[in-house]
Amino acid sequence: MKELSKLALGVEPSTTMAIDSMFKQMKAEGLDVIGFGAGEPDFATPDHIKLAGIAAIHNNDTKYTPSAGTLELRKAICQRLREDCGLEYEPSQIVVSNGAKSCVYEALRALVNPGDEVILPAPYWVSYIELIKMVGGVPVVIETREQDQFKLTAQELREAITPKTKCMILNNPSNPTGMMYSRKELEEIAKVCVEEDIYVISDEIYFQLVYDEEEFVSFASISPEAKERTLIINGVSKSYAMTGWRIGYVAANPQVAKVISNYVSHCAGSPCAVSQKAALTAYTASQEMVETMRRAFERRRNYMVERMNQIEGVSCIRPHGAFYVMMNIEKLIGKEMHGTVIKDADDFGNLFLKYGKVAVVPGTGFGAPNFVRWSYATSRANIQEGLDRLERFLKGEVI
Ligand code: PMP
Ligand code: GLU
Repeated sequence: MKELSKLALGVEPSTTMAIDSMFKQMKAEGLDVIGFGAGEPDFATPDHIKLAGIAAIHNNDTKYTPSAGTLELRKAICQRLREDCGLEYEPSQIVVSNGAKSCVYEALRALVNPGDEVILPAPYWVSYIELIKMVGGVPVVIETREQDQFKLTAQELREAITPKTKCMILNNPSNPTGMMYSRKELEEIAKVCVEEDIYVISDEIYFQLVYDEEEFVSFASISPEAKERTLIINGVSKSYAMTGWRIGYVAANPQVAKVISNYVSHCAGSPCAVSQKAALTAYTASQEMVETMRRAFERRRNYMVERMNQIEGVSCIRPHGAFYVMMNIEKLIGKEMHGTVIKDADDFGNLFLKYGKVAVVPGTGFGAPNFVRWSYATSRANIQEGLDRLERFLKGEVI
């Protein structure tokens, strides 16, 4: 048989999805395992949103919609961008798609020619690097350090830019680090992007999950020149506990939005009509539930960070947003545990799952081999038990 597509063959599976599947499989087999893998809110989709989905089915809102999404939903998104981020967009600048993940792919498709370089600060969300490769782009990874809060500086960005650079991906607040850029930091980065004329795919999916009363600043709000070059990625998955409904969007300049809309008109047709109705309700009804869930995440973060830093051998810095903690395992590298010398986060993750019965995501897939990611989008009881197990596991116990 003939060879499959080289591009497709080069794509690695998603570590986050793989860990989650493994965890679910072990659970289904009756094993007492606790999962901190998938970054997915444990809350149910709020009832008023579920009811909107049910009503959509009853009202026969079950047909194709415009490729970019219904006008009413795009208007609602513009309203949210105005209220939540102080941004002015027209519905023609919005393309709704099958989750923010598809939107990142479409954004890259719209910008990248084969061989174009895409700057990606590490640690990065595992899908970015594969999505860049999927469009024939060349990822240019810039390592950031824990002592710098895993943040990219404008200087580092400038040094990585070449004539082939087309865009950068900025994830703010970040998955997996939970770090958030300040207005000043974004201004410095935006200055470089404008001067060097590069686009920015600004994935702001965690923008409402921000803690310690810090201010979230959308990259597009920095200046009109920055906005022109920004493709905002957002959606309902995280803020509204709607991961399975698959609704995300891109907001961009009219030309980019049109190109993306043309593209999806062929490869997706239109986003799910029922989910669009549910998302419309999420965006237009009271936003109280978003805040309730945010507060719950903040309490869990506080507990996880404090407790983790009391455990001998591991540590973490305090994240400001999203729902992830990056646990530093540097001190464990080279140590023998349960008969295996730990070389990297993969070894640690495998051993912790096998002997500690806890699933975490090794940082290897995020470009951070000395870290593992814990998601605190799970109950306080699970977090407590998971950290108890970590403590026991590190003492050599088998759970
Ligand atoms: N961007 C980031 C940074 C994410 O963590 C996720 C979660 N998988 C996504 C995008 C995709 O979200 P969605 O469920 O809307 O595809
Ligand atoms: N964003 C989540 C995570 O990083 C969900 C899984 C995925 O899509 O990668 O765990």
